[in-house]
Amino acid sequence: MKSKNITNIAIIGGGASGIFASLRCAEIAKENNIKADIRVFESSNKILKKVKISGGGRCNVTHHKNDAKDLCLNYPRGEKEMLSPFMTFKTTDTVKWFRSRGVKLKYEDDGRMFPITDDSKTIINCFIEEAEKYKVKIITKSNIKNISKLEDEKFSLRLNENNEYIANSVLIATGSKTSGYKLAQSLGHTITELAPSLFTFNIDDPIIKNLQGTSFLNSHLTLQINNKKPFYQNGPLLITHWGLSGPALLKLSAWSAREMMNSNYKAKIIVNWLGINSKKDTEDLILVIKKRNSRNNICNAHPKDITKRFWIGLLKKCKIPEDKKWAEISNREIDNIIKNLFNCELSIHGKSRFKDEFVECGGVNLKEINFRTMESKICQGLYFSGEVIDVDGITGGFNFQNAWTTGWIAGTNMVL
Ligand SMILES: Cc1cc2nc3c(=O)[nH]c(=O)nc-3n(C[C@H](O)[C@H](O)[C@H](O)COP(=O)(O)OP(=O)(O)OC[C@H]3O[C@@H](n4cnc5c(N)ncnc54)[C@H](O)[C@@H]3O)c2cc1C
Repeated sequence: MKSKNITNIAIIGGGASGIFASLRCAEIAKENNIKADIRVFESSNKILKKVKISGGGRCNVTHHKNDAKDLCLNYPRGEKEMLSPFMTFKTTDTVKWFRSRGVKLKYEDDGRMFPITDDSKTIINCFIEEAEKYKVKIITKSNIKNISKLEDEKFSLRLNENNEYIANSVLIATGSKTSGYKLAQSLGHTITELAPSLFTFNIDDPIIKNLQGTSFLNSHLTLQINNKKPFYQNGPLLITHWGLSGPALLKLSAWSAREMMNSNYKAKIIVNWLGINSKKDTEDLILVIKKRNSRNNICNAHPKDITKRFWIGLLKKCKIPEDKKWAEISNREIDNIIKNLFNCELSIHGKSRFKDEFVECGGVNLKEINFRTMESKICQGLYFSGEVIDVDGITGGFNFQNAWTTGWIAGTNMVL
């Protein structure tokens, strides 16, 4: 299987990052006239399974943001470490990479980028064509059970007792699969605490009951877990059947992933629904409505940026009858309305999945990787890329960008 003149490259994991890395390996080998046997070992029967289902089948490939520092701000884990990789390969490089292979990407108002076909198969077909062109060997149903370092610094990869592959360098790109973490540990690495990221909050409260689908453009959120330092986030918020979701809330879940897991998903969220900057401004708004509508029932006159249904829910929470006239509303009731608009405290009692999207927070310890090459600082010739590392992003294409960037850098350095 091995030859003196051939560099054997083993990539464990045929997901986004492993496949991208294999193509970069092949490109570098060709450019440098290096004979390389590049093999991708994939445990399941198909490669790129997550790419296929990603972005609701459209594949949110990357994000329109392109400044390396700005990009880093979207990674709750890896913010500091990803700066150097993004200086080498960032979102605009992803766009160019696909464009030069005939795949055009477009961006939407929120910056997410998709293939213009709105079909993840476009991305998969592009990768498969490239792999065929470069003769990358993709071997499915090949679960790598263990790796060991040989005396001559090469690696022995075991599929089973009779099947071994000897490699000069190895990339672990196993995503969030436990088997990948075990392989890394067997070669001396530590795995940081694992926790799911990108989830929605389960909340039972009269203010949101039966209001699924109601959204708020610019909410301000404060998440208080026990008595620890709060997490803050601003932006769009959505009421769902089971609680709260929407871009601002998903970001909050990503930043607080470990703390939320450790609190068993019990916490308090304080919602400023309208995103008005001060309590005084909220009070002024309510008093103007009161003055202008003194003869109206309270349920018929409300701030224009919230729906009547939500307003009625808020009145319920404040225990104010819907048919009470504005003129009869007491100062205490006014205070209660302001509190629930500006500082609405809700109890979180669990989490739910966001569609089916999910990333793992935690993975190979960042301190053990050289981010200029993606090589292990502990075991020479071993590389890491993608979600197996303790790097994860918020939604918006940032997780795939991590997979492409780290895969590209590992691929470049594994061959040379
Ligand atoms: C439903 C869903 C939708 C998503 N949508 C988006 C999106 O639109 N945009 C975005 O940026 N991110 C999205 N994500 C996140 C994104 O898919 C991942 O961050 C990304 O796939 C990580 O790439 P990876 O190559 O590191 O891991 P993976 O894509 O998970 O690939 C790892 C591969 O390694 C294989 N493997 C594991 N262990 C072994 C072993 N021992 N031997 C051989 N093979 C092994 C696995 O079978 C798998 O195929 C989504 C995630 C989910 C679940």
